[in-house]
Amino acid sequence: MLRTRILAGTVMLMAILASAGTARGQHCEDSAVTDPALLARAVDPLDYAAKGLTPPQKITVTLQGITFDSNYDNGSLGGIASGGADVFNGSLFVEQSSQGLGPRSYWFRFKLSGVAGRTITINLTHGESPRPRIRTGGGEWRVMTAQEAPNTSQMILSFGAGEDEAEVSFFDPLGYDETMGQVTGIVNASPWAAMETIGQSFQGRDLAMVTVTNPNVPDSEKFRVWVHSRAHAGEVTSTHNMLGFLKQITEESAVGHRLRSFCIFNVVPLLNADGTALGHTRWDAQGLDPERQWCNPTGHTEVALLKTRIDGFMAGPNQIRVMLNLHSTVGSWTDTFFFKHIFPSVTVAFEGIQQDYIDAFDNATPLFDNLSAQSSQLNECLFVESYVWNNWEETVMAMTHEGHYRRRITDNAWITGADYEELGRAQAVALIEYFDLPETDYDPPTPDYWAVN
Ligand SMILES: [Zn+2]
Repeated sequence: MLRTRILAGTVMLMAILASAGTARGQHCEDSAVTDPALLARAVDPLDYAAKGLTPPQKITVTLQGITFDSNYDNGSLGGIASGGADVFNGSLFVEQSSQGLGPRSYWFRFKLSGVAGRTITINLTHGESPRPRIRTGGGEWRVMTAQEAPNTSQMILSFGAGEDEAEVSFFDPLGYDETMGQVTGIVNASPWAAMETIGQSFQGRDLAMVTVTNPNVPDSEKFRVWVHSRAHAGEVTSTHNMLGFLKQITEESAVGHRLRSFCIFNVVPLLNADGTALGHTRWDAQGLDPERQWCNPTGHTEVALLKTRIDGFMAGPNQIRVMLNLHSTVGSWTDTFFFKHIFPSVTVAFEGIQQDYIDAFDNATPLFDNLSAQSSQLNECLFVESYVWNNWEETVMAMTHEGHYRRRITDNAWITGADYEELGRAQAVALIEYFDLPETDYDPPTPDYWAVN
């Protein structure tokens, strides 16, 4: 579809209309911890990360014959103490911002061993996820029942005689290794995908970028689409979302074929690799917010690496046309949502471009009806959206999508990681309508094809 910049005079006339729109909500901004007891425990990641000390949220404690262990990838538990027979008082890890943004705290994930045949009560606040997740014996994660999570400060867990090990988490978790394992599996199974390491995080973890396209179609016929996920460490819905997106664009189907025939996809699966591994809620290993580094990322390893890639693509023949910045948000929401940026921070025409994608996404899945639509004035210099708007304006349809930890719109059940995979698939499918991608014949690969390729 044709998208021309509208004249300044028209912009002025449209300003009245635009200002009538809602502008509540901050762009992926959850509120800082205010509980004095939690504030007193807030820890600046720099107090341990740069010094090579064991992070305080990585603990292994045995009480009443049960071992609580958070000392592994993505694990996090602030503390645990006996509170009586079969009762344990836990506390969340509280991470302090090293740039004055205040502490954050909601993520937890830990293993239990020695629980066979027991019923235990764990007092631990989980207000942002009313139904945390549990698995036993390394099996599948499931949503806790109302009996297991009777309120948002307690979990009452019963284990059978054969269930000696369990794991509890804020939401269906995906740590650094789990995420990269799944991404590697998707890439290795697809002839259309390639993964490269674009550099290392502050703590030395590999940062990956996956590129998916059909090389049999000339790039001159393609739109470039950029996706990055999990700038904020605890925002795991964004990782499920990203995995669904990757599965859709690599899928052996007419839809997958159409998408990769007319798009070049660049997906950065895990931006805040360190914070995710550390089991943080929001900040990275330096206590920094990656979303606040885009305009001057010289001191921020990860964002600087992404910015280099984005700059390279924008200087090349296939500029980025759609950019999705995947997040999760706290609070009670009916639906997932995008932050549509509105006039005068962007043009009214750009509002329409964003709405075109939102509508296409709505049409692509029953799991999204835009029931919690949010709009905001684009900050001058905070997010990747600010960065691309400042430099390329309407060329790049850039938006943040926010998942939440509450209920799904279709049947009011608790929303799951699998639902976010479906939403991620739909974010890819939406591009067919958004770009008006041509129809193309799809012949499923033959066994010969797989043998040769
Ligand atoms: Zn976020």
